[in-house]
Amino acid sequence: MREVWNFSAGPAQIPYEVLQKAQEEFLSYDNSGMSIVEISHRSSAFIKVMEETERKLRSLLHISDDYGVLFLQGGASLQFAMIPMNLKKIGKAAYINTGNWSVKAAEEAERVGMQVDVIASSDDKNFNYIPAWPTDFSGYDYVHITSNNTLEGTTFYEFPQTGDVPLVADMSSNILSEPLDVSQFGLIYAGAQKNLGIAGLTVVIIKKDLLKHQNQLPKMLDFNQHYEKESAYNTPPTFAIYILGLVLDWVAEQGGLERIAERNRTKAQLLYDYLDQSEMFQPTVFGKDRSIMNIPFITGDDALDKEFIQYCEQHKIATIKGHRLIGGMRASIYNAMPIEGVQALIDVMQAFEDLKGRGTN
Ligand SMILES: *Cc1c(COP(=O)(O)O)cnc(C)c1O
Repeated sequence: MREVWNFSAGPAQIPYEVLQKAQEEFLSYDNSGMSIVEISHRSSAFIKVMEETERKLRSLLHISDDYGVLFLQGGASLQFAMIPMNLKKIGKAAYINTGNWSVKAAEEAERVGMQVDVIASSDDKNFNYIPAWPTDFSGYDYVHITSNNTLEGTTFYEFPQTGDVPLVADMSSNILSEPLDVSQFGLIYAGAQKNLGIAGLTVVIIKKDLLKHQNQLPKMLDFNQHYEKESAYNTPPTFAIYILGLVLDWVAEQGGLERIAERNRTKAQLLYDYLDQSEMFQPTVFGKDRSIMNIPFITGDDALDKEFIQYCEQHKIATIKGHRLIGGMRASIYNAMPIEGVQALIDVMQAFEDLKGRGTN
């Protein structure tokens, strides 16, 4: 079993069973005598991996035929620019600013010539909540949200009803964490290294009627090219796609997204309950917008935070340090973190509190 519980925000812990399976078949994929990383992306064996991976994702998220699924590179960060380039018609887009990644998404859109209207923002309170948004979206090419704010620990549990205006969501840190009604969105994108596997792959789910708006773009930046070439216009990130396939099998084996969501809520509740009663640790987000994927917390004393982080490292709790913009600690508890891992973290927090003589019990 695992030696260490890894709370990294990404690249993040991967289901242990997936790592084992990848190891088992690494030297010879499907008894071919060749590794999955050695075979051509045009081979029938790999084309099957791609097709099966797409089929599994469609099945878990109930993605209809109105949508294309693309396996791209460049991370979620390249999507910050590709989306405005491809979806540009009028040249104006609405962004809801809920954190560091939203800021970056909006900045990139401006760099490629989009007029960005920030229609709601929670920057007045260090992004510790999801702001209310206006309801008239007419005149925009799309509305952009960051569905889960990885650094700040907030989540949209309801989405803007944008009617005919496409809703675009960066779901990098919460895709597959719970069931999702994809039909509410024009486009969903996610870097794979949080809930979908390893770095190097970005999944884009795009409504087919948005594919043709490109404005003479370089082919690598054109969604329609990637769609028509079935994500193999050039060499796709083959190993990352293969790992995504294994992760999707694992999610299905866990009982699918309903069960995954139930477990994710249990995990987050355990940690929030602990934080809410702790005399030493405080959560930075309160109320209904709390993320069940990324949970930042602080002691309020930088030196004590540092000491706690070191204590964690000595007790098999890795990568608990918070993002430098938020400080303190952050527990990223994606799908691959079992309840046992969260309980281990809470035990270490309790032991540290007791050690410092400030525990409540
Ligand atoms: C991690 C993350 C990104 C950046 O992803 P890259 O793949 O490194 O470009 C963007 N948005 C969100 C919400 C993230 O969590």
